[in-house]
Amino acid sequence: MINAGRIEQASCGNRCPFTLLQSVITPRLGYPTLIICPLCASPVKNAEIGGKDRLMCVTCEFVNWDNPKPVTATLVPYKGGLVLVQRKFEPFVGDWCLPGGFIEGYESPGESAAREVFEETGLTISNERLLQASAPGHGINVIILFYEAGAASGDLIAGDDASDVGYFTKDNLPPNVCFALHRNIIQEWFTRQKAN
Ligand SMILES: [Zn+2]
Repeated sequence: MINAGRIEQASCGNRCPFTLLQSVITPRLGYPTLIICPLCASPVKNAEIGGKDRLMCVTCEFVNWDNPKPVTATLVPYKGGLVLVQRKFEPFVGDWCLPGGFIEGYESPGESAAREVFEETGLTISNERLLQASAPGHGINVIILFYEAGAASGDLIAGDDASDVGYFTKDNLPPNVCFALHRNIIQEWFTRQKAN
């Protein structure tokens, strides 16, 4: 799950270096603009590098490339429905979404998908396959790798960063499923099930 909320709660103000570093850690529009170098704390300046306007350090060679972060989100078929988790942290506290989150360092996307599903739902998945890679709008600078689990086993237990977890059919989906891309791929999944 995107857990920027926890990072925000731990910060201490817009000029705090920790807060500023967030724009590198969890790149989202609306976060404070990077004004100091996260490596040496010198000021940063705008510079055209590689044909684009970027922020670079005035002292060291740091360039804020603002690369998107990869996250996974996984469709988990379970007892005739799809598993969703209710978000415990911002953004969209209380809304429901697919289980997922940031890929850890040196973790494969498939391993990440399985780990996040287990952490957030208690389920062990297997034979996960990549459905699509999407770049979301709305200023959230991540690439979402959508997976579908081939099988899921275990009992549903909400993880530490979820308020609740459940499985839903097309007819009893919660009204507050957040993220348009999640809503779209969930609807597509139910449409495929109906066709099969
Ligand atoms: Zn620097």
